[in-house]
Amino acid sequence: MSRKRILVTGGAGFLGSHLCDRLLQSGADVICLDNFFTGSKSNVSHLLSDPRFELVRHDVVHPILLEVDQIFNLACPASPVHYQYNPVKTIKTSVMGAINMLGLAKRVRARILQASTSEVYGDPNLHPQPESYWGHVNPIGIRSCYDEGKRVAETLMMDYHRQNKVDIRIIRIFNTYGPRMAVNDGRVVSNFIVQALRNQDITLYGDGSQTRSFCFVSDLIEGMLRLMNCDGITGPLNIGNPGEFTIRELAEIVIELTGSRSQIVHRPLPQDDPVQRQPDITQARAVLGWEPKVSLREGLKPTIEYFERELSAQ
Ligand code: NAD
Ligand code: UDP
Repeated sequence: MSRKRILVTGGAGFLGSHLCDRLLQSGADVICLDNFFTGSKSNVSHLLSDPRFELVRHDVVHPILLEVDQIFNLACPASPVHYQYNPVKTIKTSVMGAINMLGLAKRVRARILQASTSEVYGDPNLHPQPESYWGHVNPIGIRSCYDEGKRVAETLMMDYHRQNKVDIRIIRIFNTYGPRMAVNDGRVVSNFIVQALRNQDITLYGDGSQTRSFCFVSDLIEGMLRLMNCDGITGPLNIGNPGEFTIRELAEIVIELTGSRSQIVHRPLPQDDPVQRQPDITQARAVLGWEPKVSLREGLKPTIEYFERELSAQ
């Protein structure tokens, strides 16, 4: 069989660039498509000399025709700061991006994986969250452009599958962190590390008792690849690390691991900020034989080292 040609939308972003690395290592040809809204060329600059790697500047709200065997649809800003910057554009990216990529998958008979999110569960009143939970999402709040956009993308995936037999995979990603997050990303792990390394105040929103479960990037990419290459399953499938921490605990661990002189200061809790979040990964364990291997403390070390390098280069 000839080498697989694989499209990664959002491929110059945090997760997308790690995915491109792994796909090239596996011997595939990779087309990385990005509009560089939150991603950057520097995330994939080490791949540019590889003849099996192509970088395309393109916005997924517009159709594109490419001959590919697989599509990983990751294009969408993921940090609240960035997805709320232009909420209309965010929802267009999720919805029109999904329509365009599903249309492409249908036309060239490619398998397509949609990067969905734990945000489809909203502010969950079931804990931990299994895939069967329909969620508790505000349709008109400031997070809705992202949450509802991702929910519609899931709907589109299922409808193209039922109506047109498109070969789909839906992964629900829970908070993932690691090297190549942008310094100005705005999500909690990168914010706290950057603040700690600069000995600036650590901005804890609300009282810090809200929880998240943090997955290291290598574990996430392994789960994503297994789902894409597993036959007979569409998902949605939760991929995340069930290790759950309050945001205050995260701040304390980051201060400890960086040896920072930073102080914790409180800032108002943003509207609709979910109170708790933890993946139920029973299905991923059973179907993919997957579970995370990297603990929060283990994953924070290379992440801190990465941000040290980034900040010293500035
Ligand atoms: P990121 O912001 O680093 O990456 C998103 C990438 O998509 C960037 O390179 C950006 O430039 C690109 N992009 C945005 N809009 C685009 C458009 N209209 N056309 C083309 N490219 C566009 O974020 P990430 O953490 O790498 O997230 C990747 C995907 O995974 C996103 O779809 C996100 O919703 C999903 N996800 C991530 C997490 C997480 O914790 N990292 C959790 C849940 C879901
Ligand atoms: N948060 C915080 N300080 C920050 C950034 C985020 O306390 O500087 C909190 C935020 O209110 C939320 C949690 O950390 O409760 C995770 O936020 P993030 O933006 O990383 O992702 P979310 O899971 O909310 O989409």
